[in-house]
Amino acid sequence: MRLNFLDMTIQQARDTLAAQNIEPYRAEQLADWVYRKAVTDPAAMTSLPSTVVGLFDILTSRVVARAESADGTTKLLLEYPDGQRVETVLIPAGKRATVCLSTQVGCAMGCGFCASGLGGLKRNLTCGEILQQVIHLRQATGRRITGAVFMGMGEPLANYDATVAATRALIDPQRFGLSARAVTLSTVGLPGRIRRLARENLPITLAISLHAPNDALRRKLTPAASVASIEQILAAAAVFFASRKREVTLEYVLLAGLNDTNVCAEALARLAKRLRCNVNLIRYNPVPSMPYAAPTAAAAKAFLARLRRRGVNAHLRRSRGADIAAACGQLRQTAGTGQ
Ligand code: SAH
Repeated sequence: MRLNFLDMTIQQARDTLAAQNIEPYRAEQLADWVYRKAVTDPAAMTSLPSTVVGLFDILTSRVVARAESADGTTKLLLEYPDGQRVETVLIPAGKRATVCLSTQVGCAMGCGFCASGLGGLKRNLTCGEILQQVIHLRQATGRRITGAVFMGMGEPLANYDATVAATRALIDPQRFGLSARAVTLSTVGLPGRIRRLARENLPITLAISLHAPNDALRRKLTPAASVASIEQILAAAAVFFASRKREVTLEYVLLAGLNDTNVCAEALARLAKRLRCNVNLIRYNPVPSMPYAAPTAAAAKAFLARLRRRGVNAHLRRSRGADIAAACGQLRQTAGTGQ
């Protein structure tokens, strides 16, 4: 089987080249083309002999659909050689451009409101398959990438090794060279994996999809993830904070009439005050076929105000790309694949 360059550290690529009697420094040259310039066509890599590029795969996926939002958000549907498809999104904000990466094809968590879980988990992505998303987005938009969030399809901590390897590539100065502060890993909340992540020496931001302030409601919204209690999740989050001194983000998708009540806001405030954290509120992005609705903008603002009155550092996030179904697994559904 051919090796994928995106699965390797620079040192591993050097070793691979040395084993073929090729000068190891060619690895840095290839990395410069691929990671810095997002050039993946061997013919365009003018500084490199074809024997070097010929050793590796780089992009194994292809773009099968593209959608542009009026707000500048670009979404791509990628297909891997086995026919599996994932979505990936670029979100511009002024000079910055953040990519939203998928880590799995589908998802096993089955959260009742999320389109990515429809049809269950197909398979994990490899590290290289995760990183190809960054290169495709860069090639499709010409934008320099300044940040990355693991908020696409899948549960990143359920595909732990590939996600951590991809994170290391994102913040490696010889590869994508992103600032660790600009990388966020979002998890449904797997306490054992959060504790393990705390030991990785990765100064990234951890976001936890809490979505409910008590276990009974959380079991309804995120059933598979609710084998862990909120207490266990918050304890693991505190360990992550202690190891990295990076404030944890609590994500909270507002679902009309379910978790957007005053009682929920007060309970969420009590939880948030126990942790060094920011709370990100997101109005639900409705998924056809799912029995949930977004609260009104006024109701969302009232929820935010209540948290702030309790001294919680909270923000209401704008939903981007709603006109292109940028949220969470929807292009894959509407493109009629639903695989
Ligand atoms: N598995 C990870 C990453 C998922 S996507 C996690 O659970 O965190 C990132 C966020 O989008 C999660 O908080 C997820 O619950 C949320 N989300 C999923 N579907 C959504 C929708 N239709 N509208 C708004 N947010 C959604």
